[in-house]
Amino acid sequence: METNVINQDINVGNVAKAVKVAVAKGDGIGPEIMDATLKILQAAGAQIEPEFIELGEQVYLSGNTAGIEQEAWDTINRNKLILKAPITTPQGKGYKSLNVTLRKSLGLFANVRPVTALHPYIQTHFPQMDVVVVRENEEDLYAGIEHQQTQDVVQCLKLITRPGCERIIRYAFEYAQAYGRKKVTCMVKDNIMKLTDGLFHQVFDEISAEYPEIISDTQIIDIGAARLAARPQNYDVIVTSNLYGDIISDIVAEIAGSVGMAGSANLGTNVAMFEAIHGSAPDIAGQNIANPSGLLNAAIGMLAHIGQTTVADNIKNAWLSTLEQGYHTADIYKEGISQQKVSTSEFADAVIARLGERPKILPASNLAAGAGTIKIPTYQRKNEQKELVGVDIFIDWKGSDPQDLGDRLASIDSFNLKLKMITNRGVKVYPSGLKETYCTDHWRCRFVASDAKIQGGNPVYHPVDYEQVVALLSKLHHVGFDVIKTENLYEFNGRRGFSLGQGE
Ligand code: NAD
Repeated sequence: METNVINQDINVGNVAKAVKVAVAKGDGIGPEIMDATLKILQAAGAQIEPEFIELGEQVYLSGNTAGIEQEAWDTINRNKLILKAPITTPQGKGYKSLNVTLRKSLGLFANVRPVTALHPYIQTHFPQMDVVVVRENEEDLYAGIEHQQTQDVVQCLKLITRPGCERIIRYAFEYAQAYGRKKVTCMVKDNIMKLTDGLFHQVFDEISAEYPEIISDTQIIDIGAARLAARPQNYDVIVTSNLYGDIISDIVAEIAGSVGMAGSANLGTNVAMFEAIHGSAPDIAGQNIANPSGLLNAAIGMLAHIGQTTVADNIKNAWLSTLEQGYHTADIYKEGISQQKVSTSEFADAVIARLGERPKILPASNLAAGAGTIKIPTYQRKNEQKELVGVDIFIDWKGSDPQDLGDRLASIDSFNLKLKMITNRGVKVYPSGLKETYCTDHWRCRFVASDAKIQGGNPVYHPVDYEQVVALLSKLHHVGFDVIKTENLYEFNGRRGFSLGQGE
């Protein structure tokens, strides 16, 4: 079992010098679990020097919509290492999620969440589970690029990049290799999102071929998540994109026993941030009853990351012994299994009292054995031939009959660009749509060169000049169409870089 993670190009070995860490006590239960965690780290002799930073609810409510002051950024930039308790993002009023801001601003591309069952001390239906979710942390729908385009339609851009896929997928395989893991499972939805999730899948296939000793497997996220919830013991390392990873890592933590137990690492090239996976639990804040284990596990991961594996193992073994001996906080307390229901601070004292002990039944921690280096090569872009072959023009139109719109657009004569089809919410409605298809006020109108044709059942496109697109847009505007956006249609090395409409 391991909770530690190692960053690229960082050799794990013991260091003696105190390492400065930016420490955020957070909101809700944050201060209580951070005090407990730091007390344990100090008692165990961790060589760290906390520098406290202010971020979260109070900063938001003081009028700072980002939730973090410049002083905190300065401390983070100096130390490159963060231990963070959960924070509360006030609802509404346009507050940006600070967690997303930190991950994206600091380039923390990998979110690593190891979850292991601690049966029989922590109740779970899955005593054998030992899963690490490696979640892409910066891209996907979390790019947060959203627009309202018509009265009826809003849009969120899903951005998947080749460098982003290469980094996270290689990280997953390197992690598996460093920790003796046997299998990496990729979860995607590329039967629907052929370009975005298709790229993730394709990069997974390319990189997995470089690690023949590790079993690789790809599953569609819906059935994959269902199987994970039903039989988590069949999974080892899972690598997936941001949204899917967010959802499945919470499922995994919950079915292992409690969201209060798991820690996570957010890793980038220069900065690393460690935190519990749970939130600020305002419902139990200030009562000294929260479980500090999630943050403690995150801190253990941080110590391993900076090379203090001996002290990390000591703390982990004391924590395991505490759980084995039945000292449990309220969230994991079970009559018949637990010996004593303890408060947050009593739990910390119980762990401190067991420093130097090893668990009797649960496997002891051996983070030092997982020492190694993860190398993520710099991304090399390969040059591809890019050719413009058409344009999708999105129009806000309040009419209801696609044939009417199609006939009007088809009659527009513009420099060799010709209407090929119209879709509404991705479904082809012109030419030859079905009258049952529900149409909104958001119409995608595809224009390609008039000499484009179908060959062997496949469309063959011809090059288009951007001047033609500009002229077409101008014409549409002059005859009164409300153009809301355009997407150019490209081929890359002759490969189509856009999806076909459903029914096209
Ligand atoms: P939550 O994780 O805070 O709480 C969910 C449930 O789990 C609650 O019943 C809570 O009491 C319990 N719980 C959580 N941690 C526990 C612990 N250590 N010990 C015992 N019980 C624990 O999720 P939520 O209620 O959806 O979110 C509350 C706030 O936390 C929101 O403002 C949310 O935005 C924020 N949040 C922050 C982070 C973060 O900072 N990384 C992550 C998730 C949610």
